[in-house]
Amino acid sequence: MPPSLDEVIRKAAVLNAIRHDGKADPGAVLGNLLGENPELRPRARELMPTVQHIVKDINSTPLTQLTQEASEKWLTDLTREKPEEVRKLPPLPNAAKYQTIVTRVAPNPDFVLHLGNARAAILSHDYARMYNGKFIVRFEDTDPRLKKAQLQYYDIIREDLKWLDCTWDEEYIQSDRLPIYYQIAETLLCKDAAYICECKPEQWKPLVTAKKACPDRKLGIPTQIERWEKMVNGNYAEGQAVFRVKTELNHPNPAVRDWPGFRIVDVNKTPHPRVGSRFRVWPLYNMASGVDDHELGITHVLRGKEHLTNMARQLYLYRHLDWTYPDAVHFGRLKVEGMNLSKSRMMKALEAGEYDGIDDPRLGTLAALRRRGFSPEAIRQLMWEVGPKPVDVTISWDNINAINRKIIDPTSHRYYFVPDPITAEVSGVEKDIEVHPPLHPQHPEMGTRTLSLKARNGSSKLLLSGSDRTTLARSKTVRLMGLFNIQALRFQDGELRAERLDESTPEADVPILQWVPPEDKLPVAVVLPDASETSGFAERALKGEKVGSVVQFVRFGFCRLDEVRSDRVTLYFAHN
Ligand SMILES: [Zn+2]
Repeated sequence: MPPSLDEVIRKAAVLNAIRHDGKADPGAVLGNLLGENPELRPRARELMPTVQHIVKDINSTPLTQLTQEASEKWLTDLTREKPEEVRKLPPLPNAAKYQTIVTRVAPNPDFVLHLGNARAAILSHDYARMYNGKFIVRFEDTDPRLKKAQLQYYDIIREDLKWLDCTWDEEYIQSDRLPIYYQIAETLLCKDAAYICECKPEQWKPLVTAKKACPDRKLGIPTQIERWEKMVNGNYAEGQAVFRVKTELNHPNPAVRDWPGFRIVDVNKTPHPRVGSRFRVWPLYNMASGVDDHELGITHVLRGKEHLTNMARQLYLYRHLDWTYPDAVHFGRLKVEGMNLSKSRMMKALEAGEYDGIDDPRLGTLAALRRRGFSPEAIRQLMWEVGPKPVDVTISWDNINAINRKIIDPTSHRYYFVPDPITAEVSGVEKDIEVHPPLHPQHPEMGTRTLSLKARNGSSKLLLSGSDRTTLARSKTVRLMGLFNIQALRFQDGELRAERLDESTPEADVPILQWVPPEDKLPVAVVLPDASETSGFAERALKGEKVGSVVQFVRFGFCRLDEVRSDRVTLYFAHN
């Protein structure tokens, strides 16, 4: 029976209301209605009062109830008609001040990107594009000792960024730029804005806490330059001297007072992975980052608020050199429920062998999300949702999964998979049966797959999911997806005995189970988010999918094909 006119109007009105915070507009509803049902066009005028009446009713219904109704009745339309995300990023501060907006992302290649730093990458990139500006990638690899870069991570980070669709206009690597920092060091020394400190930590600490200068601070420019040359020429050992930038000694934060700009690293012991032992004097984070933001013309720095102290330090550098500090946007911490995004913790655990690699499904790295079948678009939508807000945000996996589901659902082919399978012998099957379920129920144009059930002596064997064992024991009648209803009789020697029900049996409200023909089974292993594995059989047609494609195992969840071997296919589980 075709839907009544009232029902057609109601559908247009509910969908319109959902798009506009629960308030439908009668004019827009009528417009959509006539657009979708051209045959109603001549009746536009007479329809308006009915539309208004229905809209009035809908606008007084809670939005949650409307969404519920729409997802039950018109799920396809609801997802298809969801308007383009019109979410906007708030404007950058002082954007008009600059001719070209220049942003940067500055990863340390001592690890790969994870959900936490995807935010800085995406927002920095997207702001640059929004303003037709420039986006720079800068590898910050000037700590050969504690935050030592690893060669393979430069490339994985590039891959991460490309995957996120954060393409960059320029790339810099700080370990290529040491002469630039050295020049700045000399300028600062000549301006009496820095000094070389020979104090041991135990001498330095009480002085700085007491807001007092160390004896090295006032030695005069020629001595400082001499000491700097000593540093560069290798006449100090690691830890014997440090280059300090002068600040107010009474700065309220002791960590800002006369902060270290350069230190000596024994590169024979810990050579740099790119430049080896060519340099012994290495700029610390605030020196290299501060100099580069100026040198590369960065107009806006987007980063976490944990960098506020760094900004306080760098402001002294900028003041000494008469530079203007970029506009900085500091956002709050991003936490993901049930997941530790601390880089140092992840690195430590990885080194201890707790994880299989940087793409272990338990990790919040982009490599892991990629492997599990998350779409980069989902990560972007999430980061736009979170935006550059200064407050801390905790996101749940439900939230991330919901965003991703909406993106991957329309393109994921459906297959049957029976984990931990049980065999069922169904009597009453007189001849072979071949069925052709669609690859996607809402997209018949994607085609079909073929499952053939062989009959032997009036019965047929098939495989069911072990997780349906209780359902089979409890509810005696079940429907096999796209096939027929069966009556479960008993379990015998671990096998289910069942009989096919007569086609004339009315289709009751019974559980619908997926199944796999034993003659056509494909051994499958699915790696779950906790890195455990579940195995079973999928239909043979799955073999037609390429590595990297995301499929939906019906009644199981979305999975990404990770490896296809002759004896088995391995997938990674995304979410259900
Ligand atoms: Zn000193």
